[in-house]
Amino acid sequence: MPGPGYFWIGQEEEQEVLQVIRAGYLSRYGEESNPKFLHKVKDLESEIGKKFGSRHALAVTSGTAALITAMSAAGIGPGDEVIVPGYTFIASMSAVIFCSAVPVLAEVDESLTLDPEDVEKKITPHTRAIMAVHMLGNSCDVKKLKRIADAHKLLLIEDTCQAFGGAYRGRSLGTFGKVGAYSFNIFKTINAGDGGLLLSDDAELYKRAFAFHDQGHFPLRTGVEIGNRSVIGQNFRMNELTAAVLLAQFRKLDRMLEHLRSLKSGFKEQIRDTKGLEFRRLNDPEGDCCNVLTVFLPNRNTADKVAEKLGATTLARSGWHVYNNMEQILEMRTINPKSNPLKSEHYRGKAEYKKGMLPKTDRLLERAINISVGVVDKGLGSSFGVNLNSSSEEVDRKAETFRQVVAQCL
Ligand SMILES: *Cc1c(COP(=O)(O)O)cnc(C)c1O
Repeated sequence: MPGPGYFWIGQEEEQEVLQVIRAGYLSRYGEESNPKFLHKVKDLESEIGKKFGSRHALAVTSGTAALITAMSAAGIGPGDEVIVPGYTFIASMSAVIFCSAVPVLAEVDESLTLDPEDVEKKITPHTRAIMAVHMLGNSCDVKKLKRIADAHKLLLIEDTCQAFGGAYRGRSLGTFGKVGAYSFNIFKTINAGDGGLLLSDDAELYKRAFAFHDQGHFPLRTGVEIGNRSVIGQNFRMNELTAAVLLAQFRKLDRMLEHLRSLKSGFKEQIRDTKGLEFRRLNDPEGDCCNVLTVFLPNRNTADKVAEKLGATTLARSGWHVYNNMEQILEMRTINPKSNPLKSEHYRGKAEYKKGMLPKTDRLLERAINISVGVVDKGLGSSFGVNLNSSSEEVDRKAETFRQVVAQCL
């Protein structure tokens, strides 16, 4: 049930990992003069930073760790509100909570990303940041969200975990806000089982993020830094084996995206004229990662029937990503009741969580189905469709099945 990178794990990954294992040195830190130290993590950071056009890159252990590190480094904390879409992976919200801040849920629009109009309505005196989640491989309305963030002096944090390699108007997603976070878990564009990365142009933020991710140390330490540690940090360090896999995966990214684009446009072309069908609005079709092809049926009933016949679920019923299905958030089940950010003495706002609180989002998700292209994931509702290795015959066959199913259900 994985992302596209999974389908192309091969000799290149094997070679990279073998190099590291044979050298025998697995930590991200080492002396340049040590021939065993192959600095794969450092290479990964610089290759991605360079290609995506960002001054600073920091590899971490997961997308969740990247988000927590990013927001901690940006100074988000107790009493702050962060506006988050109601349709996203749980980590967009849990990361806010682990910064002791409060996620405020906002609607998504026909692009299934943050609805800028609702974002404006959700701004209060406590709002510190907007978390722009580039859902399902395509960008938020970056232009509008950036304008809102600037007008209200809010930080724009980009959760780019589902859109590594995507772009908006020719520029890489994750490089528009104060900081962008990526994930390399198995469902994402490229993967090493787990892993994460953040990008920022802000040198100070990078320094704080680095310190946070490694017990307060300054970037690229080579030894002990007693007396110099700026903050109390975590250990979210990536190791050399993970970076070795990711380097090989990253070098396949362009080819992978190109291939996914042709699969997706092939599929889309064949179902374009299906009666009763609409496509998700893409804020930037050119910059699409082509994870999925999202369609809307005319109503919930039809969508349920179509999904069932395809062996899939509508987005409203898919297990993850929908606030209505997140009991741990709806009831704010923090591991220690005293760390409930809503109950913090610093919090003066009135955020609350209820099923059905985002009617626009609910109406959209109950009519929507994800056809898999790059990401085959039941939890995303994309169990029907194709994958990176599908032949053009398979694309034709699946498109035909889809057309027939919709015709039967209308
Ligand atoms: C996957 C994902 C994350 C978290 O990434 P992990 O590497 O699993 O921690 C965060 N946000 C979104 C939108 C995601 O899809």
